[in-house]
Amino acid sequence: MSVDGIDYQRIAKKLEKMTTKNKIDEAKVARYLSQLREASITIAVLQKTGLGIIVNRLRRGLKSDTLLSEARQLIKKWKKLLDSAQQQQQAAAAAAPSPTADENGSGADTTEAKRPRVDADEEASPNGSSEGATTAIAAPAVTFKESERLRTTDSVRLKCREMLQQPNYLAAEIETCVHLETGSKLDMKYKNRIRSRVMNLRDTKNPNLRYCVLMGNISPAQFAKMSAEEMASDDMRKLRERLTKEAIDDHQMSMNSGTSTDMLKCGKCKKNNCTYNQLQTRSADEPMTTFVLCNECGHRWKFN
Ligand SMILES: [Zn+2]
Repeated sequence: MSVDGIDYQRIAKKLEKMTTKNKIDEAKVARYLSQLREASITIAVLQKTGLGIIVNRLRRGLKSDTLLSEARQLIKKWKKLLDSAQQQQQAAAAAAPSPTADENGSGADTTEAKRPRVDADEEASPNGSSEGATTAIAAPAVTFKESERLRTTDSVRLKCREMLQQPNYLAAEIETCVHLETGSKLDMKYKNRIRSRVMNLRDTKNPNLRYCVLMGNISPAQFAKMSAEEMASDDMRKLRERLTKEAIDDHQMSMNSGTSTDMLKCGKCKKNNCTYNQLQTRSADEPMTTFVLCNECGHRWKFN
């Protein structure tokens, strides 16, 4: 992607590679950052390249104070760009409050949904939990100017939306992991590894693999290593079923904090320190389901 003579995609790739391999060449970084500083970068470019996220991650590995402040300034500038674009969209949405355009997907909500994420969390602790292969899959920083139809606070749905914004970035993460995993050479091993990932992701009989990769249940690093058997439909189906069940249980458990009791005994640790919730999970004339959480060992079960 080249705008005003600068190949942003290339810069993004180079910077990301240095960060991932933890081999930061500060002379090169200085050159790239000054190119980026001079450039009139657009929101579309930020979105396509993931530069905001990449520079933010790179920042943590920089030793030179000059470079560090340069990286910070860039992130601040991009954040401002995104914020002002968002304010304009909100103003436009407020001026025309009937969200009729939503239905054909060209409304303000749709453009807003494309807002790329720039993490300007400057003071993030260096030992924070945001390191690692799944860094790209972070909490959504997007604030939607939502119509009623699009509004949700469901964590799974929000996560899905975040995923949908970042497929380019997820692809880059996976490719980088395969590249490292196969010895950083572009040989047959690398190509075969990539080919088998692509084939399995495209396999129409195996939608569960796509689901798990997209949802982050399988990290890019794990996915890069998986064998054909592990990617196979049956294993993925089981994993997805387990994860879905856990998500439902967590959701139901979090609806209220529950009632403590010593009347129920945990089947795992045999202690009588549990919290239970009763919920109508099926039709009203059927008995309530009781969800139990052991406060000692975290074991969950349910009964009717
Ligand atoms: Zn227990």
